[in-house]
Amino acid sequence: MKNPLMISVSGVRGIVGAGLTPELIANYSAGVGTFLGPGPVMVGRDSRVSGEMVWHAVCAGLMAVGCDPVDLGIVPTPTVQLTVEKSNAVGGIVITASHNPIEWNALKLVSREGIFFDEPQGLEVKRIVESKSFRYVPWDQIGRFSTKTDAIRDHIEAVLAIPYLDVQAIRKRKFKVAFDAVNGTGGLILPPLLEAFGCEVYPLHAEPHGRFAHAPEPVPENLTELSQWVLKNKADIGFAVDPDSDRCAIVAENGVPIGEEYTIALAVQFVLSKKTGNVVVNVSTTRAVDDIASQFGVSVIRTKVGEIHVVQKMKACGAVIGGEGNGGVILPDAHLGRDALVAIALTLQHLAELGKPISEIWKSLPQYHMVKKKVEIRSIDPQRVLETLEKRYASENTNMLDGLKIEKSNSWIQIRKSNTEPILRIMAEAPTAEQALAMCQDVLEEIQQIGQ
Ligand code: MG
Repeated sequence: MKNPLMISVSGVRGIVGAGLTPELIANYSAGVGTFLGPGPVMVGRDSRVSGEMVWHAVCAGLMAVGCDPVDLGIVPTPTVQLTVEKSNAVGGIVITASHNPIEWNALKLVSREGIFFDEPQGLEVKRIVESKSFRYVPWDQIGRFSTKTDAIRDHIEAVLAIPYLDVQAIRKRKFKVAFDAVNGTGGLILPPLLEAFGCEVYPLHAEPHGRFAHAPEPVPENLTELSQWVLKNKADIGFAVDPDSDRCAIVAENGVPIGEEYTIALAVQFVLSKKTGNVVVNVSTTRAVDDIASQFGVSVIRTKVGEIHVVQKMKACGAVIGGEGNGGVILPDAHLGRDALVAIALTLQHLAELGKPISEIWKSLPQYHMVKKKVEIRSIDPQRVLETLEKRYASENTNMLDGLKIEKSNSWIQIRKSNTEPILRIMAEAPTAEQALAMCQDVLEEIQQIGQ
């Protein structure tokens, strides 16, 4: 990849040893600290090998501008969000490149409210960093460093306190639960969570040493081992989480990965069965969510891709549930961030109430297939591609909320620029995988023609 370092409104992300240097990280963290002002800043990291190096630079940058870094250790991203929300911290930094491969690392920025930085906040940090307007303090105002070791315990307690849960009812079922934490943060937090639910736990890649056992994105092609593990142990369900445990995908008891889009679909079905209210998902999320919501007489509000866009809309409309189709479930009754623990808790309660295998619950949901492709934008101008396609499809039902989405009666296709990688993402959803794939291929050919 030609340009491995990306400084954007959502933080900084790069390849260690090829752009993501301690100097840059310390500068960036000093910029975040300058923006946040003096006070405690919660710092957590996922388990990747570069995490400790990055962590030292983050703490140095924060202390140099008078912030007090509070080290939470290796914890999920939602744990940092929740800890910031429940404390007097002025903000938080999560050191994680989420589902990106091992050579990447990144900083995710958390505001005082415990939600990600929005665009104006991210832009202000970028301005401070680029103009080097750091508020460096003299020796006697340097920030103080401390550690907090109970963030994971508090997170689990917050999840167990979700109002729709009957923990005793789940415990009675003694579910056999397999999980794959891909040697990320899930290995630390999922065993105590599942044990609190009385589950018999079958861990896979649960040591948080950060040398990922397979490609870390929890998409079906990366879950073959978990599928076999579920079958071998006759588990009732398998959960896969990404390295920072904000995304969760499900493998059914028959070993079939049901696709990460169905994590949010199941959560929407469950929550709407308890409480009527608005549902917010991003523009790329499965149409199954709309079908389910309409069964409850509720409509779905769509946003641009990215957790903060969904969260802001959820706040504005008082949504009862929201999230993203990549396995990210956001439940305001817990906190306003994607949280794999919340997804797992809701799914176990759903299973306990319906008393059916997860494969049957899934089959009873509206069935769609999604195909996701990417095109490197090294040689093509993404703006020109989008504008040309927009004109070409002007007579169709199109949506420019995020890239270009073309909606048909029972299918859709979307072409958008990635927020995190120099690629164009193409996603299509249709009742069958063949239809979705054909739609993707057609648009791929069109893009190549436009690019020539
Ligand atoms: Mg993640």
